[in-house]
Amino acid sequence: MFVVGVTGGIGSGKTTVTNLFQQHDIVVVDADVIARHIMDKGGEALAAVSDRYGQQALFEDGTLNRAWLRERIFQHPEDKQWLNELTHPLIRQQILTQLQQAQSPYVILSAPLLVENRLTKLCDRVLVVDVSEATQLERTQQRDDVSADQVQSIMNAQASREQRLQAADNIINNEADEAQLVTQVEKLHELYLRLALAKRS
Ligand code: ATP
Repeated sequence: MFVVGVTGGIGSGKTTVTNLFQQHDIVVVDADVIARHIMDKGGEALAAVSDRYGQQALFEDGTLNRAWLRERIFQHPEDKQWLNELTHPLIRQQILTQLQQAQSPYVILSAPLLVENRLTKLCDRVLVVDVSEATQLERTQQRDDVSADQVQSIMNAQASREQRLQAADNIINNEADEAQLVTQVEKLHELYLRLALAKRS
């Protein structure tokens, strides 16, 4: 399978871009969605959390109290490490399964932390959706109704714009309006079709 990793900082336009690839019938595997589902009821990750912390980590219906866990790992760095060691291999495995099952000429792996979590190793090409930090702040605030400080602290926890661009094989500049994305995605789609075909033959 030919895998194109799509990444970009918060509010850069990853979802907007991957939706356009989906319109070309390309399967998109979303690492964020997988990360959320890893803690679903009945799964081994939730069982491990419940073994470690007991009832305080759960709601009465047995689902995870995400706010409690977020606060816990914020206060206790060793718990954050434990949680990462628990969840990262499970997330990676689920990503691999979904990539293998994908039925399209190539497949997209969309992950905000593609570079930070070394998921680039799973990718044949890395596509970075790039905007200035000012644009990230403006669009995220418009979308989520959050303060500039909140967005800035998430940006600080992510790779820098330069680090991401260093990992890029292709770059989509998303400073202009959404209409200009369509042609950029079309050109890249044609390129990835050709590269995927070349890999198969
Ligand atoms: P996150 O990492 O936070 O999930 P993202 O990288 O997936 O974000 P999107 O949700 O696609 O980013 O885009 C962020 C916001 O900016 C959305 O409200 C989207 O509609 C808007 N947006 C995306 N591209 C453009 C553009 N070219 N012009 C104006 N608004 C845009």
